Amino acid sequence: MTIPVIRPWLGEEEAQAAAEAVRSGWVAQGPRVAEFEKAFAEQAGAAEGVAVSSCTTALHLALHLLGVGPGDEVVVPSFSFIATANAARYVGATPVFADVDPVTGNLTPDTIEAVLTPKTVAVIGVHQGGVPFDVDALDAVCSKHSLALVHDSACAAGSTYRGKPVSASASLAAWSFHPRKLLTTGEGGMLTTSDSDRAARLRRLREHGMSVSAADRHASSGVKLESYDEVGFNFRMTDIQAAIGLVQLAKLPSVIARRRELAERYHKLLAEIDGLRWVGDPDYGTTNYQSFWVVLPDSYPGTVVDVLEGLLARGVSARRGIMAAHLEPAYSGVDLPVTEHLTARSVILPLFHQMTEAEQDTVVTALAEIVR
Ligand SMILES: *Cc1c(COP(=O)(O)O)cnc(C)c1O
Repeated sequence: MTIPVIRPWLGEEEAQAAAEAVRSGWVAQGPRVAEFEKAFAEQAGAAEGVAVSSCTTALHLALHLLGVGPGDEVVVPSFSFIATANAARYVGATPVFADVDPVTGNLTPDTIEAVLTPKTVAVIGVHQGGVPFDVDALDAVCSKHSLALVHDSACAAGSTYRGKPVSASASLAAWSFHPRKLLTTGEGGMLTTSDSDRAARLRRLREHGMSVSAADRHASSGVKLESYDEVGFNFRMTDIQAAIGLVQLAKLPSVIARRRELAERYHKLLAEIDGLRWVGDPDYGTTNYQSFWVVLPDSYPGTVVDVLEGLLARGVSARRGIMAAHLEPAYSGVDLPVTEHLTARSVILPLFHQMTEAEQDTVVTALAEIVR
């Protein structure tokens, strides 16, 4: 029995909700999506939520909405899942990689300013692994240079910034409901925004640019013809997914409480390993611990792969730390020393709602045996 790195917390309630959506006869985007959008936006401290098929399509749509296109540069961290950089490519723009802070793994005003050019139009800030970036600091640097700031909040449902939901002040934030995140709908995503005109346009764009949604036409008593005023996409979420999302959303506070409890216990247990560093709260906010990563001691001569193999041999499934997109063949190399160090030396340890203290002890004992 291997201890997994994450296990979605899904149960009978989600199964029931999905079955009810099927039985209702309305499985495409409809009333459950609308209900999920409202509930998610409220939890996120945003005025509006627009559900889409994934965080990847949410980021794509956000840049499209902002009019980012060929010739433009978008600053992104390389230290992120590759979808962050790909979003810039989808609209024909160029992602420009900035380095990150060694403690939070996030962009800072200095790392952003180091890569700005006259072509820069936007920044995608990532709350990496659930650790909030310094929102006020990034807002300030973006407004100083007249850049749009999009939050990639894929990992950050339930994280906080200065006592509020992490992206409550964002003009556009993109969220993921992939099973690797804390709240899952199988696949799925959301854009939150404080601007209702933007939300209305996003709702049209995700549905082929239709002026009247299929759900609204269906609900109408008279004949309603739609028009297509601009080219849109099919980035819709289904009502089956939204039904599951509503159940998952109600569980989010207890998921985060349990993760934070287990993370604090990790902090105490891992203190025994000399030279090991681990992720925690920055002084301006709290993480939901979507990823519990550690940075290996400098004294440990082995590689991350040695550690992953050693852990697997001891019944623990861990993962390499956050990837560096600029080191992948899809993107060309630049020099990002902090990103390269973090990627080369960090490991994500198992953390999930149902994890027992005994399982956690096994993880720490195994890691200590390997790196000591
Ligand atoms: C998971 C993830 C994404 C992609 O989310 P999908 O919903 O799978 O498209 C984007 N950005 C970051 C930072 C992620 O962790």
